[in-house]
Amino acid sequence: MMNNDIESVLYSQKQVEQRMDEMAKDINKKYAGELPLVVSVMNGAMIFTSDMLRRLDFKLNLDIIKASSYEGAHSTGQVKVVQDLRTDVKGRRVILMEDIIDTGRTLKYLKELLLKRGAKSVEICAMLDKPETRKVDLKGDYIGFDVPDEFLVGYGLDYDGLYRNLPYIGVLKKRIYA
Ligand code: 5GP
Ligand code: MG
Ligand code: MG
Repeated sequence: MMNNDIESVLYSQKQVEQRMDEMAKDINKKYAGELPLVVSVMNGAMIFTSDMLRRLDFKLNLDIIKASSYEGAHSTGQVKVVQDLRTDVKGRRVILMEDIIDTGRTLKYLKELLLKRGAKSVEICAMLDKPETRKVDLKGDYIGFDVPDEFLVGYGLDYDGLYRNLPYIGVLKKRIYA
């Protein structure tokens, strides 16, 4: 059982869903009548993105980008695009969707990259934020929950490729990654 590897539940499925409803209200207000491009940062944001998209009521396009910066439970600080967009972002409003902001390096890199390519605007929508561990100047525009500096899994967040399918956000037992 996956559940045996979880120390505690930080946010239940119901709590995450209620928060997503609130976030969607803000985003729907902001983008009414526009046609933004949603860019989901794979693989972590997959679950969050698909749940959020069905709450958005404006026309949008969807593309994915895959970045890597994280090895095991410790960030290496180096960001690489390992799978790029297929969409031209020139002149587009972009909403970057991410599972969690930690050091902020990944999203800072991606935001600057898309702006360099001519995106008209880039906003950040993240399910979770760890403000204490920020290493670069980066702010999310829509944040689900601020969370403490613990290693979290579930709702798309993995440890070594596992636990993405947990339907809640949990703290992983230290013995699993120690
Ligand atoms: P950043 O570039 O902001 O340091 O790293 C962001 C990425 O690190 C996230 O997209 C996520 O993949 C990973 N990450 C940061 N904190 C956690 C965490 O608590 N649990 C998991 N599973 N991944 C995390
Ligand atoms: Mg991620
Ligand atoms: Mg990961």
